[in-house]
Amino acid sequence: MAKSKLKNRLDVVFAKYIRLRDVMPNGMFRCISCGNILPFDESDCGHYINRQHMATRFSEKNCNAQCRKCNRFDEGNIQGYRRGLIAKYGEATVSMLEAMKTQINKISDFEYQTMIDHYRKEVKRLKTEKQIK
Ligand SMILES: [Zn+2]
Repeated sequence: MAKSKLKNRLDVVFAKYIRLRDVMPNGMFRCISCGNILPFDESDCGHYINRQHMATRFSEKNCNAQCRKCNRFDEGNIQGYRRGLIAKYGEATVSMLEAMKTQINKISDFEYQTMIDHYRKEVKRLKTEKQIK
């Protein structure tokens, strides 16, 4: 399978995993950047370090549920995102992500396939556990 296709597949399943991970038992999520609480269906998987950086593209800490307004129209609301990340994971994690930004990370086909399989299972598990369709 072409690398770009593997990357797309992983993007899709990874985003679903992040959104499911961050949904609360009442079916709502809190936007990492603005703190608004909205229904699951309105969540995006928002990247703190931009998606173009491969070293953090599939980092679970770099990706969090975000509202569409922040993700799509407010350029990620990056200041808010940083504050939200510090609250969630602490300052050291945020600094680590920022340092990783410039690393070169070449993902092999095998790694892609392994991650796709892993996150497919996780999505299935979380959907059942959190009763989300
Ligand atoms: Zn928001």
